[in-house]
Amino acid sequence: MKIAITGTPGVGKSTVSKVFCDIQNYKLYDITKIVKEKELYYEKDESMDSYVVNFNKLKEFFEKEIYSNENKENKKNKKNNLKNELDNNIVIEGHVSQHLDIDYDYIIVLRCEPKIIEERLKKRGYSENKIKENVEAEIMDVCLIESLERYKNDEENSKVHEIDCTNKKPDEIVKEINDALTTDELEYGKVSWLEKYFDYLTI
Ligand code: ADP
Repeated sequence: MKIAITGTPGVGKSTVSKVFCDIQNYKLYDITKIVKEKELYYEKDESMDSYVVNFNKLKEFFEKEIYSNENKENKKNKKNNLKNELDNNIVIEGHVSQHLDIDYDYIIVLRCEPKIIEERLKKRGYSENKIKENVEAEIMDVCLIESLERYKNDEENSKVHEIDCTNKKPDEIVKEINDALTTDELEYGKVSWLEKYFDYLTI
């Protein structure tokens, strides 16, 4: 199973993904970490203190990493006549995970009250601009819309599941993810910050 966990920075992706992967024994790929460590970026945007991701290189990385593993596994399985899919159970975590052209089984979009995201990003020491850009992205459903654009073929074949994490503990959120995966009952569109936060927007 290949799962993307996406959402605005500060929403809790990293925390939730770690708990999920520990419990479910999935391999975790943290995009931010990979981009930095493998230098899969064009440059550092000093004004936003972030990296301009080289998506071609990032896609190449995952192609090698995931699909060559799958091939190896398939060969091994055929040889041993075993059906061991464990090595193919992965979570790719990051707010750009929906841009990687990976054939995910599920895209989990985490959401959180914008005020809470703002507080978390302040604690992280982000600049005012960067905080505003991210809070606005949460208000405008950016990660959800991008995920739906790529992974909702039609109403019945959507792979996208949205979870409001506001005031929930990581364990509860992980349980909601598990429930969605086991029942295959996915939903999105219930979270809406726009009315409450309209005045925050400058665009
Ligand atoms: P992201 O990976 O989406 O940027 P993080 O997982 O790094 O977000 O979480 C941002 C901050 O919020 C961290 O300090 C983390 O401890 C805290 N946090 C994450 N999820 C929760 C939660 N469900 N409840 C309370 N605090 C949380």
